[in-house]
Amino acid sequence: MNKYLVFLEQREGVVKKASIEIWNRVQELAARHPDSAVSGILAGSLDIRQLDGVLGGKGVIYHANEERFLLYNSRHYARLVADTLKRDGATSLFFADTALSRDLAPRLSVNLEASLLSGCEVFDDAGVDVGCVRPVYSGSAIASFAPERSLRIYTISSRSTRSIISFGSHIEFIALEPSGFTSENLFPFVRRIAMRKDRQDVAEAAIIVAGGRGVGDAAGFEQLEELALLLGGTVGASRPVVDEGWRPHAEQIGQTGKTVAPAIYFACGISGSVQHLAGIGSASILVAINNDPHAPIFDVADYALVGDLHIVLPKLLDAVKEFLKKR
Ligand SMILES: Cc1cc2nc3c(=O)[nH]c(=O)nc-3n(C[C@H](O)[C@H](O)[C@H](O)COP(=O)(O)OP(=O)(O)OC[C@H]3O[C@@H](n4cnc5c(N)ncnc54)[C@H](O)[C@@H]3O)c2cc1C
Repeated sequence: MNKYLVFLEQREGVVKKASIEIWNRVQELAARHPDSAVSGILAGSLDIRQLDGVLGGKGVIYHANEERFLLYNSRHYARLVADTLKRDGATSLFFADTALSRDLAPRLSVNLEASLLSGCEVFDDAGVDVGCVRPVYSGSAIASFAPERSLRIYTISSRSTRSIISFGSHIEFIALEPSGFTSENLFPFVRRIAMRKDRQDVAEAAIIVAGGRGVGDAAGFEQLEELALLLGGTVGASRPVVDEGWRPHAEQIGQTGKTVAPAIYFACGISGSVQHLAGIGSASILVAINNDPHAPIFDVADYALVGDLHIVLPKLLDAVKEFLKKR
């Protein structure tokens, strides 16, 4: 029997949309393999009613409903997940590909001597083992990977297509009462840099208005903010913008930033380097605004607006406002 365990990541008591998507994708995988079962793990005190109607399929969710697990601590989380894995008997562990899982999954794979398949986009489950397909070399090639060990850990990138699993879910919550956790901590908590509550995480946003060096300066992002607000989206940034301190690192998209999967991605004053494109391959629609008609971003854009963004953006804003007024 294949037993799949999904780590449901929360921040400040809110379960991440990316984790919910992974749960539903693993349910799809289980539906293709009748001899399989899905379970989940949640760490931290939170209201589980937020999961009503969003988790599809069936299974059990182990919940360590304790305040001390609200804040991520790699040592404690690694132990909690390893203990739950043992209790559940799962042979595959799935994470959404997030900053947390990039820290926790490698730690677990070493501790548990498990195969680690990171940044997977598609499951390759034609054979007995579930492998994965993911981009390599900054997105210039696609490679297939197969696990070698009996215990496997997967981190899965978001994708813009939604899950097709049905939502008449039969999910049981089981309280975990972890013991033996001491206050000893090799990684003392230093400082928390909170994201503004009114901002969505770029990794989860459906609409992203991203700016590059071409925006000019930090003040130039006001128009991008306005467009994002009108469309119900959020602002993203290229690396030079973050290096310049115009925008926070949490908004950086690309190889050394976040991987995003929005329905619409506006690239304003972004040249389209391979390192930036590595983070936006799953965007459904790419709209590029650039004053250089030969900018590489236009090779991959669905809509190309050639012009100075300081002229194009105000016109686009007026058009969107007009459109919204008429609705
Ligand atoms: C190991 C490594 C990892 C990296 N990781 C990342 C990453 O995660 N994310 C990332 O983004 N980059 C990353 N980079 C950097 C990457 O190589 C590029 O340097 C970067 O993406 C370029 O950012 P940009 O497009 O904003 O700036 P530029 O390449 O300088 O492009 C600016 C664009 O703005 C246009 N422009 C200028 N003025 C205007 C105007 N008024 N109106 C309209 N258009 C205008 C220009 O024509 C140009 O195309 C990485 C690099 C390395 C080596």
